[in-house]
Amino acid sequence: MDIFSITGAAYIVAALLFILSLAGLSRHESAKNGLTYGIVGMGVALVATVAGTVDASEFIEDRPLVIGLLVAAVVVGALIGLWRARIVEMTGMPELIAALHSFVGLAAVLIGVNGHLEGSHFELDSLNNIHEAEVAIGIFIGAVTFTGSIVANLKLSAKMSSAPLMLPGKNFINVGSLGLFAILTVVYVAVEEGTGQDIVLAVLTVLALALGWHLVASIGGGDMPVVVSMLNSYSGWAAAASGFLLGNDLLIVTGALVGSSGAYLSYIMCKAMNRSFISVIAGGFGIAAPAGDDKDYGEHREIQADAVAELLAGASSVVITPGYGMAVAQAQYPVADLTAKLRAKGINVRFGIHPVAGRLPGHMNVLLAEAKLPYDIVLEMDEINDDFPDTDVVLVIGANDTVNPSAAEDPSSPIAGMPVLEVWNAKDVIVFKRSMAAGYAGVQNPLFFRENSQMLFGDAKDKVEEIVRHLGD
Ligand code: NDP
Repeated sequence: MDIFSITGAAYIVAALLFILSLAGLSRHESAKNGLTYGIVGMGVALVATVAGTVDASEFIEDRPLVIGLLVAAVVVGALIGLWRARIVEMTGMPELIAALHSFVGLAAVLIGVNGHLEGSHFELDSLNNIHEAEVAIGIFIGAVTFTGSIVANLKLSAKMSSAPLMLPGKNFINVGSLGLFAILTVVYVAVEEGTGQDIVLAVLTVLALALGWHLVASIGGGDMPVVVSMLNSYSGWAAAASGFLLGNDLLIVTGALVGSSGAYLSYIMCKAMNRSFISVIAGGFGIAAPAGDDKDYGEHREIQADAVAELLAGASSVVITPGYGMAVAQAQYPVADLTAKLRAKGINVRFGIHPVAGRLPGHMNVLLAEAKLPYDIVLEMDEINDDFPDTDVVLVIGANDTVNPSAAEDPSSPIAGMPVLEVWNAKDVIVFKRSMAAGYAGVQNPLFFRENSQMLFGDAKDKVEEIVRHLGD
């Protein structure tokens, strides 16, 4: 059997393992197996690709150099990947994922440029035209993914404001750019190889880079979870486009899997957050600029840990709604101690989890599972929302946007329409945070000024530990 048949067979095995991986990752119980399938599939794909390339380099003059470069790229890439994976904090995962998507985009652009430089030498003109269209489309998707992911990374790491960029005529810019891309692609395919064609491709690339930047910059903080999964989908299509250019079937299959599963995840998240899918993928199409917030919300009240302990000791039903701040403070372990203490006193303690609490889907569930909290008291937003009116005390631990009443009550709010945990319907609400700062979406939260709300300022971990101490044995 020659190396091509072996590589082809390995690619089919890898593609099947990727499909099994996706199927496994769709349920808690099978997620670990899903990961294993993915890792093995990627290992098979990598070995097959390297072996295929080494074999194909047989007739190249500088063979040792080619193989040396290949090995160096794999080793350096693997080392950087291992190092980043080891040091990344759970809260830093989305920005790391965004950075990785930008590499897929950049790779697609470089493969496209390579396809352009190599040109196509088919006898049939139609095949040459298809090759050129693949180059243009691959570069376009790759460039949009590249700059879009860089903006997402900057927004998620708070190096850039999470507020939506509101250029005048932003919808026109987005739709116009798509139209211009279609025209440039036709021109690129129609003109002869040479300087003219180089210029058209350069303009197309700059247009796509600018569009990617603008699309993601136009989307507000509250919609970032959808943007991350959307860029995941784009990176899949960029990989598939590269697969067509390189004639690599595995890249086409894997790209299509990532592209379609990312698109479906974005759709599910849009539904959960009551957002229009089209509006989000079109860079916030139809979302008006938020009105300036100079409203007077009144005064907030403060409370200390000992008084919270007293309040909790007298409660019969408590709901904890954790958010990003619990992850930052790593407060899940003292929260588990607090839960155990309250349950030992016969108090009904449950958790209410918003679908986009924290910075990645399932973030809170992972943290609570890490602290070994019983899963049956951890409820989804829809399961707990009707129970707040019968709840004595709600502890909002480092959550902000996900408990903001203006989403439900103020149609002019940038997060209007997003379903939230309706904690304000409880008898008493205690908000754990360090200051009066806004949440990720940059929107003020009227909850903090409600009559039944009190602020417990400080690091969430320290404050929960203090409460546990005050509760005694
Ligand atoms: P937010 O990001 O809205 O608010 C977190 C709050 O935690 C802040 O108000 C902050 O206030 C407080 N905080 C931070 N550190 C600490 C600390 N050490 N101790 C105590 N409090 C702390 O959190 P939510 O979870 O409510 O909302 C998530 C937001 O992130 C949503 O807007 C969502 O759209 C977005 N997002 C979600 C993603 C996902 O997939 N889940 C991905 C990307 C974005 P202070 O600084 O005053 O302490």
